[in-house]
Amino acid sequence: MRLPAARALDGVDVAIVGVPFDSGATFRSGARFGPRRIREASTMIWGYNRVLDVAPARVLSIVDYGDISVVPVDIRTTMAHITQEVAHILAAGTRVITLGGDHSISLPLLRAHAAHFGELALIHFDAHPDMWDEEFEGQPYSHGTSFRRALEEGLMDPAATIQIGIRGPLGDPADIAYPQKKGVAIIPIEQAFDMGVPAIIAAMRERVGQRPVYVSLDIDAVDPAFAPGTGTPEVGGFSSFQMLQLVRGLRGLNIVGFDLVEVNPPYDHGNITAILAANLAFEFLSLLACPVN
Ligand code: MN
Ligand code: MN
Repeated sequence: MRLPAARALDGVDVAIVGVPFDSGATFRSGARFGPRRIREASTMIWGYNRVLDVAPARVLSIVDYGDISVVPVDIRTTMAHITQEVAHILAAGTRVITLGGDHSISLPLLRAHAAHFGELALIHFDAHPDMWDEEFEGQPYSHGTSFRRALEEGLMDPAATIQIGIRGPLGDPADIAYPQKKGVAIIPIEQAFDMGVPAIIAAMRERVGQRPVYVSLDIDAVDPAFAPGTGTPEVGGFSSFQMLQLVRGLRGLNIVGFDLVEVNPPYDHGNITAILAANLAFEFLSLLACPVN
């Protein structure tokens, strides 16, 4: 979005941070190229959000913080780097919008945000619950386990957590039984389409209230016809416009952090996934520029 690149955080309201890491992916790798492609796609975005009636860069001081140092062969070290760097940014009073990277990066992001803001509410858009225990070859850390670990670590309150867009074949009924047993609200895609966008927005808002809420958006919540560039595509998802509407529906909530993950440029076509991601990031910035009510 042609915003300045800077690491100095004095007076900075929002930092855009890239995490070019995809070693938590279980199927198609390539999300490590997401941040740079989203940045590139964002250069054509103009500054005024007509729908939310706000120009984020006129209201907020925003910088592109660059990328977090990752170690492609070491997920634990990378997670430690993410938590440490994001904690440093939050300590300066700066909000963070993170561009992934695969969804494993949300666990260290949630660790940093929960340490700073306390137990979080969570709005999670995804085709997948990402609530595996160690189903993938006994591994506790991958893009399929982030929210299981986050629940175990008490980073978010299951009673203020909602997952939207869940679909596709599961490995086992337990994949979805675990979050349900813990009290997480789930709006699977067939229910989402029955409800329609306004009712989903109402359900999200009621779920999190005015608590500090973290928003995690896996681009595979969107249908692969609109977002083919992703690691684990699932057919029958939201359109780009529905996704934009759902995000705009979060206006006025007390949002303390965002991530946008699983954009996988090697599988993209004509940059359509990256362009959608750049526009969703612009909606995130716009939400941060709107007053909390
Ligand atoms: Mn995910
Ligand atoms: Mn997913």
